[in-house]
Amino acid sequence: DPIPEHRRRVLLKLSGEVFGGGKLGVDPGTVRGVAEQIAAAVDDVEVAIVVGGGNFFRGAELSQSGMDRSRADYMGMLGTVMNCLALQDFLEQAGVETRVQSAITMGQVAEAYIPRRAIRHMEKGRVVIFGAGAGLPYFSTDTVAVQRALEVHADVVLMAKSGVDGVYTADPKKDPEARKLERLTYDEALRRDIRVMDQTAMTMCKDNGVTMVVFGMEGAGNVTKAILGGELGTVVTP
Ligand code: UDP
Repeated sequence: DPIPEHRRRVLLKLSGEVFGGGKLGVDPGTVRGVAEQIAAAVDDVEVAIVVGGGNFFRGAELSQSGMDRSRADYMGMLGTVMNCLALQDFLEQAGVETRVQSAITMGQVAEAYIPRRAIRHMEKGRVVIFGAGAGLPYFSTDTVAVQRALEVHADVVLMAKSGVDGVYTADPKKDPEARKLERLTYDEALRRDIRVMDQTAMTMCKDNGVTMVVFGMEGAGNVTKAILGGELGTVVTP
């Protein structure tokens, strides 16, 4: 189907560590900072956000401690919804209209995930925040970011990273020789086992022609810049 014309539309992936400021739970100051950066960019760009939940629970880790994996994954998904509500609050305080859409129905706090409605919200200038992952155990919010980007016809996936400002040839914390890459293909990333996101997500990007920008949260104004299409981080292409 032809994709209807729209303004620049981005899918921003915020992992749980962005919300926790490195700790368990939500760090309000950190979330406020991110929300203000998003608010500074939404006049000209349509923004959808997929929110992670690693600051609360990761299903794989809980299952290693003896929990049933699927139940642990549902806990992980519920954690993402708390992050969504925190982000929604600070975005609205910054004057941005928002809607949270959850892949697990919970009508008191979020709309259900309805893709056409999400697109409509963006066309009206609202930021749409997607929570509860895919609603399916054994998935990651990285994979969901790619799936949602495809379904709402986002032009690019913006992967905000904490503690690193792009993709490197090796782990920059361990290898002093590590170099930052300006550009990279998914094939190269998969071949060199560079974990910019999980393999399912990367394969999905590669197979469906999704471009991704991996950038660091830390630099002043980086989130705003990424949303507006400025050059930063590493561009990963099919
Ligand atoms: N999760 C899941 N299905 C999904 C998305 C997430 O089961 O579609 C669970 C999974 O347990 C995961 C947790 O939610 O560990 C938090 O998501 P993720 O680890 O992707 O968050 P991030 O690493 O971005 O903070």
